[in-house]
Amino acid sequence: MANRRISESANVTDEDFLLGTGMGDEIVAHARAGYPEEVCGIISGRDGVAVELHRGRNVSPIPRTTYELDVETLMKQIEFDDTGLVLAAIYHSHPAGPPIPSSTDIARAFYPDSVYIICSLADPVRPSLRGFRIIDGAVREVVLRDASVGILT
Ligand SMILES: [Zn+2]
Repeated sequence: MANRRISESANVTDEDFLLGTGMGDEIVAHARAGYPEEVCGIISGRDGVAVELHRGRNVSPIPRTTYELDVETLMKQIEFDDTGLVLAAIYHSHPAGPPIPSSTDIARAFYPDSVYIICSLADPVRPSLRGFRIIDGAVREVVLRDASVGILT
């Protein structure tokens, strides 16, 4: 994505997550395709490194402001297990809001071992991606890195 912002130094953290080449663009493309509704999906990986992205379906009854992954996509965790991978990240989009977890996102973050990635289209020209750990209501940022462009903001 030519117009993605890349920051010299991200605020925070002691952890980072490496997206596969083109994966950031894939998330943005999915977010744009689903606009004005939120889209969601999952990323398999291991040791903080993404392996494969799987688009999910947002089955929330109010998809413009919340997301809920479909069961079929969540069940892919079983396949991941078989190949030594884990549910490394869950992504969703904020069609109009900032790339930070909403109170609903925090309340429904049931996977402490996964990174939560949010793609904001609030500025349609410059979509932004940020990653977070959400554990027992506590949110801390994880630096997202892209194999091809460095740190994403
Ligand atoms: Zn959200």
